[in-house]
Amino acid sequence: MEKKEFKAESKRLLEMMINSIYSQREVFLRELISNSSDAIDKIYYRALTDEQLEFKQENYFIKLAADKENRTLTISDTGIGMTKEDLENNLGIIAKSGSLAFKNENELKDDHNIIGQFGVGFYAAFMVADVVTVISKALGSEEAYKWESTGADGYTITSVKKETVGTDIILKIKENNEDEQYDEYLEDYRLKAIVKKYSDFIRYPIKMDLTSR
Ligand code: ADP
Ligand code: MG
Repeated sequence: MEKKEFKAESKRLLEMMINSIYSQREVFLRELISNSSDAIDKIYYRALTDEQLEFKQENYFIKLAADKENRTLTISDTGIGMTKEDLENNLGIIAKSGSLAFKNENELKDDHNIIGQFGVGFYAAFMVADVVTVISKALGSEEAYKWESTGADGYTITSVKKETVGTDIILKIKENNEDEQYDEYLEDYRLKAIVKKYSDFIRYPIKMDLTSR
């Protein structure tokens, strides 16, 4: 298994972002949910032109599942997924925002969303997690891949099994320490409140897996 380096400047950006630009750590969830929503949008738009593909509303959703015992928070979606190349190109390079390019073209730029503008939204996950695992199967692909990273030191990509198209983002939530509390990101009521605060407008259902503990 080969460990790859982030491309130039990524390390510095990542450290800077994690340590400073967010006043509120809780926005990591908004960033991940917005990526999931974008990924479902992509299937939706594809279905408009692809007769083979039918967009059945009930099949498209985002799901949150907290597991206190294992200290994981998983954000799953039934969106378009990522190929191995996508994982490499989209999660391996910080500050190359696909969504930003889209927004600029369409003059939808949101000046308040600094993080989205820098295209580092996904990396907000590292504010609350010391390991981030992405398991994804792209639409039209038989294979699934796992991308894993502990932050600034790079990432690995391996082959895995996944039945359904879409993406699971698994955050290994940091341990509490003297200065910082992270346990709250494993609490359903807290997650619900964050979703309500930042992601209320999302067009797809955001389910919570309340059976997992
Ligand atoms: P942005 O959303 O501004 O492009 P991000 O850092 O939030 O920047 O995400 C980087 C890219 O990673 C996205 O543009 C997308 O291509 C890919 N990506 C992230 N999360 C997902 C997901 N859940 N499903 C599919 N692709 C994703
Ligand atoms: Mg994003």
